[in-house]
Amino acid sequence: MTTVIDSVPLGVVLDDIVQLHRPRNERGSVPARIPHLSAPPFDRFGIAVATTTGEIFSAGDAGIPFSIQSISKVFTLAMALGVDDRDSLWSRVLREPSGTSFDSLVQLEVEHGIPRNPFINPGALVVTDHLMESFPDSAGHFLRFLAEQVGESTVGVGPFIDEAAAQSELASGNRNLALAHFLKDFGNLRHPAQAVVESYIRQCSVMMTCEQTAKAGLFLARGGRGEAGSVVSKDQAKRICSIMLTCGMYDAAGEFAYRVGLPGKSGVGGGILVIVPGRYSICVWSPRLDSKGNSLAGMAALADLTDRTGWSVF
Ligand code: GLU
Repeated sequence: MTTVIDSVPLGVVLDDIVQLHRPRNERGSVPARIPHLSAPPFDRFGIAVATTTGEIFSAGDAGIPFSIQSISKVFTLAMALGVDDRDSLWSRVLREPSGTSFDSLVQLEVEHGIPRNPFINPGALVVTDHLMESFPDSAGHFLRFLAEQVGESTVGVGPFIDEAAAQSELASGNRNLALAHFLKDFGNLRHPAQAVVESYIRQCSVMMTCEQTAKAGLFLARGGRGEAGSVVSKDQAKRICSIMLTCGMYDAAGEFAYRVGLPGKSGVGGGILVIVPGRYSICVWSPRLDSKGNSLAGMAALADLTDRTGWSVF
């Protein structure tokens, strides 16, 4: 069986998207405080679509591992909710768009240490802290979770943590440490600030390909059902997608909803994970970012793909 869009096979559509959207010259930026993210050449571009029927389509550099950065926040949120019977996480973090930068100290101070949502850095630090209650080695557990969803071992080609990159980010991680200390001061962190930041940064430093990332996100398109059983309930899967739609794209969630019309989560490594509920999990990657921190070419490609296919939640 193959997926066809207006009688064109999806694989052919993706090849065309790569042709059109692969950057031809150096544009956009990489985050200054994470030096290793400038390593991939500007013209890297990959896209993969995993279907709920078990197919995978990809094009361009979809087989090259990239740093998933904040895409990790979707998975850690799902893992934390999956072990949280009483929904107690939601007394520690809200579910509103922040309207400020993802690592703002000011907002956290004004709002008494309760982060606006789980996808800004303080929110993700709280999620990591929550996860560490059940799994002290949360980053190791996270990696095993991803390997299970992707269906490959963590050795060799499977998802892996770029430990050197994590160390270098940690060395310049003063802002995340400051956020963690603020949270601790407000009584919203149970583990030592340093330990939480270390786990969080190791989670961000996971390397996966577009194909692997799309496969890892498939449980959200399948109402919470992962490769080896339930990851979260159907209700939780719906709610995670809602938070992706409203909070997943930094300060450009409105623009992304307008142009793409699907729940998405981006990372400053240039990856974007997008869910078409019931049908597809999509990952696009191109490393140079726009002023909001989203992949320049990735945003354009997703707008184009969803216009061509009509994929949308609206
Ligand atoms: N590791 C990055 C940080 O904490 C992740 C940022 C992102 O992708 O949004 O700043």
